[in-house]
Amino acid sequence: MFRKTRLFTPGPTPLLPAGQFAMAAADLHHRTPEFRALFLKVLSQLKSFIGTQNDVIVLSSSGTGAMESAVTNLTSPGEKVLVLSAGKFGERWAGLAKAFGCDVTVLSKPYGETFPLDEVKAHLTPEVRVVFVQATESSTGVRHDVGGIARLLKGSETLLVVDAITGLGTTKLDVDGDGIDVIIGGSQKALMIPPGLAYLAVSERAWARMETSKQPRYYFDLRKERKNAVKGESAYTPAVALIAAMGAALDYLAQQGGGDVAKGRELLVNNAELCARCTREAAKALGLELFAASNGAAVTAIKAPAGISSTDIVKGFKKQFAGVLSDGQGEMKGQIFRIGHIGFLDYLDCVAILAGLEQVLDELKPGSVQFGAALAVAQKVFAEARKGESK
Ligand SMILES: *Cc1c(COP(=O)(O)O)cnc(C)c1O
Repeated sequence: MFRKTRLFTPGPTPLLPAGQFAMAAADLHHRTPEFRALFLKVLSQLKSFIGTQNDVIVLSSSGTGAMESAVTNLTSPGEKVLVLSAGKFGERWAGLAKAFGCDVTVLSKPYGETFPLDEVKAHLTPEVRVVFVQATESSTGVRHDVGGIARLLKGSETLLVVDAITGLGTTKLDVDGDGIDVIIGGSQKALMIPPGLAYLAVSERAWARMETSKQPRYYFDLRKERKNAVKGESAYTPAVALIAAMGAALDYLAQQGGGDVAKGRELLVNNAELCARCTREAAKALGLELFAASNGAAVTAIKAPAGISSTDIVKGFKKQFAGVLSDGQGEMKGQIFRIGHIGFLDYLDCVAILAGLEQVLDELKPGSVQFGAALAVAQKVFAEARKGESK
């Protein structure tokens, strides 16, 4: 059998061919009019993709670099910050804020859960300078109520920083309406290009806060990047080829959206929602349990059935089909497996994953699967959604 290598992980995600071609052709110097024109266009399209009027910065780093920049640009050592944590990426916020000497309070919930707004509210004293949260916690599949949290902060001096690295392009967000001060994305997720770029939109309040922050910063000094971005440049040599790929990906979204990047992003979100819904219902039809109480559309986390390790499901999927699923992270390894819905995946990918999953489960535990059970349910969900569309 032929086996095509395919990523079904919540990042990196499958690559858009137009992005790959753009990378291969990107023989550009970053201090030239050609690059400046490209970068200015990308920055403007990113605003539409994020859905904000705020200035957008692109960093040549993985997503965590942008997370670190939010901590070093917006806090001072000893300052009180609140981290909302219910998974591996929430823990990353806590680790970052502690590494830079913040006085960190962590509102922590078990993996798979989210934060009741009244509990968040109870932690919001005027001393809290910044709240850090994920839009979607990729380690558990949970979508947090960013809008609800933002509304609790309205009228206060507290800044809200959202890691939407898997949230952007999978989640309906109202960045400016809700007053999200910093929202962070990464190239290897919904933008369908390789890892290596992070981007973030920053509110005027947050820009003002940077002037009083006492953390040391150099490469990730966002004020320096902002000054350069106005001219279509970045402070240091940027990952030029990835920026060209990002431009191609945003052009693709614009084209899908009839010339409008924001419409293209809406299609992308709806696409992820539909694949996530098909996957959730299909998992239940196989007698599997979902891990997250409120699953978002970025990734679906599914508990391994009794007697089977999720690690063996992931390995079996790779061995039989060369398809890459994600195991649980950290303590969740062996317990759950995760299927990504982010970016350049469609309904046919979705049913292929489900068919492969039936096959792998049957091989691990012969006779445990009624072939077609997951597919039938996914097809029903898809047919219903189509009816809704044509109305
Ligand atoms: C992928 C991801 C990140 C970024 O991780 P990097 O490896 O630094 O790119 C951060 N937060 C979430 C929620 C993610 O899914």
